[in-house]
Amino acid sequence: MSTYDVINPATEKLVTTIEHLDLSGTDAVIARAAKAFETWRHVAPGERGKMLRRFADVVAEHKEELAQLEIANSGHTRGNALWEVDNVVNVLTYYSAAPERLFGRQIPVPGGIDVTFKEPLGVVAVIVPWNFPMPIAGWGFAPALAAGNTVVLKPAEYTPLTAMKLGELALLAGIPEGVFNVLPGKGSVIGARFVTHPAVRKVVFTGSTEVGKSIMAGCADQVKRVTLELGGKSSNIIFADADIAKAAASAPGSVFDNAGQDCCARSRILIQKSAFDTFMEHFEVAVKKFRVEDPSLATADMGPLISKKQFDAVSSFLDEPVAFTGSAPTGAGYWMAPTVLLPKNTQARSWREEVFGPVVSVMTFEDEAEGIAMANDSEYGLSGSIWTRDVGRALRVSRAIETGNLSVNSHSSVRFWTPFGGFKQSGLGRELGPDALDSFTEVKNVFISND
Ligand code: NAP
Ligand code: MG
Repeated sequence: MSTYDVINPATEKLVTTIEHLDLSGTDAVIARAAKAFETWRHVAPGERGKMLRRFADVVAEHKEELAQLEIANSGHTRGNALWEVDNVVNVLTYYSAAPERLFGRQIPVPGGIDVTFKEPLGVVAVIVPWNFPMPIAGWGFAPALAAGNTVVLKPAEYTPLTAMKLGELALLAGIPEGVFNVLPGKGSVIGARFVTHPAVRKVVFTGSTEVGKSIMAGCADQVKRVTLELGGKSSNIIFADADIAKAAASAPGSVFDNAGQDCCARSRILIQKSAFDTFMEHFEVAVKKFRVEDPSLATADMGPLISKKQFDAVSSFLDEPVAFTGSAPTGAGYWMAPTVLLPKNTQARSWREEVFGPVVSVMTFEDEAEGIAMANDSEYGLSGSIWTRDVGRALRVSRAIETGNLSVNSHSSVRFWTPFGGFKQSGLGRELGPDALDSFTEVKNVFISND
């Protein structure tokens, strides 16, 4: 058993030291989850729903404690961390209604009746990245548990604390032992074992496209089910007919929130040429107003990056022409000022690659067709925004953009009531919304003869 030092990215101070699970420890937890499945799957639907509501209540009772953990462990702003706890509560509550509504169908056939059942898969593995440790965990474990599966969840090495706490709170809420298991440790050990272990019937992965591809390839060996939420290079497309002042005022939040460490970050701004000067004037004011400071302050808009490694990776994008920057604290911590780049052309690295930091690239387009073509010129397709007052244009562009989640005249992307996921190399499958249960069940068809 090895240990890991959790570091506060705002101060570089030690938060706590945790123990990492090794391979045999991982196998032991998977075995417990497989055993727990045999009873959890048979818990009456109403009872399972009640337990999930109790779990949601207990999470809500620990809101401040969980938020404090996330601020210290991940450098999330206080506002974001509180929202993230609420998101776990809301997602648990939303899916607590699912066990009682997991309907099959009755299909007309000759000679008898035909019914379908939605059966749970067994042990479901959830692999979580460090950027949104609580919400991304909940999007996996809540519907998985509701559908009657048991869960093994691996948080990212950098950010294990809130997931570990959620594991404790599940037990406190009366979720039976072995049903929801949190395994802190390395992706190359625990995550890789989820892929090869035959008792794990599905892997839900969120993280880099590179690791996602290797997980998909590994899962092929056992025809293991897989959901992937990967990278993004999303566009904020602003037409000259839009409310330019409003579009500019909201643009910083759409890319610098969570220090840009967001797969939905609108890290490309496409502004129609005739509105460029007006937009940049308003945008500069908004970027300079964006408060980068101690994330525990209620006024903070943005905290530090997660690690020195991420700081270095993001810094490598800063050799392109800079339009202007915001400000950031100096001294200890992985601080970076929000930065606005003007790449020379669409081949620039900042235009093509996911940055995962507080950096945005601005380019102009002439007309609707060019804006659409520029936005679609990417292997990614996760999110995006469209700003226009023309409803016909909003509809045409929404249908033309190859991406899973769009918002018009706003920047929302993940709402737990609606499906979330990517086109192209941004992912496979959808999370959240009314259909998520389909990703955690198999359809069984049964014909019963009249004889
Ligand atoms: P990553 O390596 O893909 O990590 C995501 C999760 O996968 C972590 O829990 C990680 O564990 C685990 N993992 C790593 N290697 C694995 C393997 N071979 N088998 C199974 N699980 C494995 O992402 P990262 O290195 O933290 O970040 C790199 C870049 O990925 C970022 O800069 C960003 O561009 C992108 N990213 C995207 C998202 C997103 O939301 N789409 C989230 C995070 C990162 P460990 O933490 O122990 O390595
Ligand atoms: Mg990695």
